[in-house]
Amino acid sequence: MPRQTQIGLMSHAELVSEHETQNANYAKLKTEKLTLDITRGKPSPEQLDLSKDLLSLPGVEDYRDGSGVDVRNYGGLHGLPELRAIFGELLGIPVDNLLAGNNASLELMHDVIVFAMLHGTADSPRRWVDEPVRKFLCPAPGYDRHFAITEALGFEMIPIPMGHAGPDVHAIAELVAADPTIKGLWAVPNYSNPTGVTFSEEVVRELVSMPTAAADFRLIWDNAYAVHPLTDTADPVLDVLGLAAAAGNPNRPLVFASTSKITFAGAGVSFIGASKANLDWYLKYAAKKSIGPDKVNQLRHVRFFGDADGVRAHMQKHRAILEPKFQLVLRILEDRLGASKVASWTEPKGGYFISLDVLEGTASRVVTLAKEAGIALTPAGASFPYGKDPEDKNIRIAPSFPKLEELEKAMDGLATCVLFAATEKLLA
Ligand code: PLP
Repeated sequence: MPRQTQIGLMSHAELVSEHETQNANYAKLKTEKLTLDITRGKPSPEQLDLSKDLLSLPGVEDYRDGSGVDVRNYGGLHGLPELRAIFGELLGIPVDNLLAGNNASLELMHDVIVFAMLHGTADSPRRWVDEPVRKFLCPAPGYDRHFAITEALGFEMIPIPMGHAGPDVHAIAELVAADPTIKGLWAVPNYSNPTGVTFSEEVVRELVSMPTAAADFRLIWDNAYAVHPLTDTADPVLDVLGLAAAAGNPNRPLVFASTSKITFAGAGVSFIGASKANLDWYLKYAAKKSIGPDKVNQLRHVRFFGDADGVRAHMQKHRAILEPKFQLVLRILEDRLGASKVASWTEPKGGYFISLDVLEGTASRVVTLAKEAGIALTPAGASFPYGKDPEDKNIRIAPSFPKLEELEKAMDGLATCVLFAATEKLLA
């Protein structure tokens, strides 16, 4: 009888022998004394170099925007109109409904939730902080820093399974219809972190139109990867504000985006898009914390891109760097783990991550094994609310930062750890 390659179907003897092989592979891996890191989705230095002209823009004599405003001075809480026009086109948001801010969209999301806590939203019967119970829906696996915000602010977080076309909208619709303490949903509609899933139009329509028991239910629509395709056909950016308005819920979505994965992760520009009522509400409180954003940085971004096509062309340069890294990761996963069937993974068409599911109950063990072999991975469970993956199987892979050679070693080492942990678990 030919030897079984599918680990779950192996006879005991085959499994013991496979475990010995993997044990030896792992011991060898440890002797390599690696120091590799595939934890966070940071742009590589090569990607940052694509935007290095920003460092000499706008130039010593260039400090006025299109309407003659001196960008060096205070003011302009809305952000530069020219920059809002460029990103309005890319995000499908009218300029009047889009504000441009400082470098971190996460800060804007945090602000919105804190403002709702302290003052209530434009539709709230009371301040969120006065709600005895506050809940938030968290599509999982999702972005750990989203969940960290709602955890820190005392929300009970409800995980929602992520499917191939977005979060499970039937589960969501049922929950929000019945429970007025559910105040919002985290959403990464294009090339989600970490699954790479783009929400289908059907999902988006349901999210903006479903009846909610809370009048102040909000979609925190984080379009961080709106213009980050890894293929020739970019997934469309749906007009969530228009769809919500047409469904009679204009204040439900608040859209966020930034150039963190376009120009400089630490020195880009961010955006918030929403209905007029939501923006008026936001600006009322934002005006208390700032006299205006860094407009010099906004102007340098306008000069750097020129127009929306300038952004699209720039993103193709990122793609040229990122695509080989994603292909490498997918090839190694297939070569090393395909036949064993102890893992499955996403094949994203854009964004920054690959989501790997290993044998149930082994993700933490894999991360520990990798760490002991000098390969830093995002902690197991990080992509779930409270950092707890109920099945202990998900690992987020961030291919962007390491060089190809390092990525290859890290992925090969990771595959060894996945196989070692799987055989160990099955023999236990
Ligand atoms: N949103 C998502 C989904 C992300 O993955 C990230 C970074 O990884 C961010 C937001 C951070 O955005 P910013 O740098 O604009 O704060």
